[in-house]
This record gives sequence, C-alpha cells and structure tokens, in this order.
Amino acid sequence: MELENYIPQSKLVVPQTDILKPRYPAIDAHNHLGEDFGGGWEDQPFEELIGLLDEAGIVRYIDLDGGWGEDLLDSHLKLFKEKAPERFQVFGGVDWSRWGVMGNAFPEWASARLGAQKERGAEGLKIWKPFGLHVQDHTGKLVDVDDPRLAPLWETAGELGLPVMIHVADPVAFFDPIDETNERWEELGAHPDWAFTSPPFPPFMYILEGLANLVSNHPRTNFIGAHVGCYAENLAWVGALLERCPNFHVDISGRIGELGRQPYTARKFFLKYADRILFGSDMGPYLEAYKLIYRFLETEDEYFNYSVMPVPGQGRWYAYGINLPDEVLRKVYFENAARVLGNPR
Ligand SMILES: [Zn+2]
Repeated sequence: MELENYIPQSKLVVPQTDILKPRYPAIDAHNHLGEDFGGGWEDQPFEELIGLLDEAGIVRYIDLDGGWGEDLLDSHLKLFKEKAPERFQVFGGVDWSRWGVMGNAFPEWASARLGAQKERGAEGLKIWKPFGLHVQDHTGKLVDVDDPRLAPLWETAGELGLPVMIHVADPVAFFDPIDETNERWEELGAHPDWAFTSPPFPPFMYILEGLANLVSNHPRTNFIGAHVGCYAENLAWVGALLERCPNFHVDISGRIGELGRQPYTARKFFLKYADRILFGSDMGPYLEAYKLIYRFLETEDEYFNYSVMPVPGQGRWYAYGINLPDEVLRKVYFENAARVLGNPR
C-alpha cells in the first residue's frame, strides 16, 4: 500500500458536535472571492453568495482580492460591495512588478496608489506572501520585509486608516528539506512549488524577524498577521510580538490544524490575547469549512479531522476543540474585527 492510499479511520467513541452557526454573528476577516482562492465568485449569482453567508452566520466578509490595479478593485467593488455595502469590505494591494519600472520612485508611487485605491473604495491593504520570498527591487535584489525604503507605504496606510493584512513566509516545514522528517511531506509532494527551501530562499526566521521589525517600526499602522501571525507553530513567538506591538493583530484563517493540535497552548493564547485575534476562514464562503472552525472554537470535541478532505491536507494529525468562553468568542468572532477594520463604508 502507498502512503497516499492509507486513510485510517479513528475508532474512538467520543462526542461529535455539529455546530451549524457561530455562537455570535461573525466577521470573516480573511477570505477571498476571486478565482484562485475564493472559488471565483465573480461569475456566480450574488444571491447564492449571500445565502451561503447567511447560512454560515457570517455578517461581514472581507474580500482580500481587490488586487493592485483599478480594474480588479472596481470589479470586486461593483460585484459585491455595492450590492451589500455592510456585508463586504474589499482590500487592495501593491503592484510590486512596478518597482523595476519606477526604480527609486517606487515607494512613493505605491503610497500614492494606495491613496487612490482608498478613494475608489478599498478598505484595507493585502500584502501577499511573495513579499519577502520573491519581490525584487529595480536592481534585482530581493526586498526584505523590513526594507526601510518602504516606510512611506506603511506610514500612508496608517495615515489613511487602512489596516494591513500581511502574509509572509508559510508553514515552517515548507522551508525545510523535503525528506522523511518533513511533517508536510505529503503536501509538498502534491505541491512542489510550495517549497521554499533555504537556500535559495531566505530562512523562515529571517522573514519572520523582518515582520516583527516592520510592525514595531510603524506603530501608527494597524497590521493583521495572517494565519496566526504567520507562525501558528510557535504561539509563544506570536504572543511576544503581540505584547510588544499594540498595533499587531492576528487572524486564525487556514490554521485550525495547527491550533487544534496544540489545544492547551492554543486555549491559553486565545484567553490571553482575546482582544487581538480575528476570526477568518480563507476557504471561500463554504459552510463545511466554517463549521470546522466553529467546532474548534466552541466545543471540547477530541481528535477530529480539521479539514474537509478524508486525509487532512496540512499534515496527518487531528484537532481538539478548545471550548472558549462566551466573552472570548464574542471578541474573536466580531468585536476585534469590528474595531480593527472599522465600519464598512
Ligand atoms: Zn488568504
């Protein structure tokens, strides 16, 4: 038998809780509606999208797919935001490819573009993970996450009141050699392009220290560290940055597998940083994916598959619920995002 055909079924007899809706109305602070990550909702009926969100108890949905040009941003604003302004907030982005053309003028240009995006209707800035891994300046040099030349961009985001949703690096194991010790071996086998083995890529901690510097260098800008501050494997590290930087927040999207395999540590993390954690799915507007997160946050269920796939894709382990108290759930589901993201315009 090949490993990929091995699908062991747990024989544990323990409670299985089906949570259909979050205990409190939820803001999904990290998700997509575009082709690549959100299921391509540009071409699907809007009523169906609203129906799915209603069914899942999602009162507001952050669409990070506004892109860096006017066309994509305008189309997402028109297709989603304009039809239900209170239900959506669309984030813009930075067109890094312009650095090669603009040279040293790029940071000021990118800052001005951010202002223009806000005027069109963008309500935040999404920084995608090529930043720190692939983004180059006009000389072809890899740009560090804490590159001081980009200060105008981050300061402008702060002045405009636009939160910065930032994703740097990826699971730690993606930076390790792909061998028999790699805990994401199956996933990397299926997606070899997800490997960022160093060299040639910078080491994982180099990128993460860049993130910590970036956030502490711009205290007037609100940053949301995607996927549990980009380091769900090490909640002590994320907690230390949260303590050092009041302008730092995290979302929990795409990391129920990580959080759910360390339930004692994760629960303490949620209790301690209850004001700084934002709910998010990153799986498109899909009820089954939402339900797994609700189950993790709200129940004491043990050893359940954290993904909708028969073999969980992010590693062959299972998750445990952390049964958060009501006041923490209210903050994580709604209040923190409402504060950091502001009222929908
Ligand atoms: Zn995402």
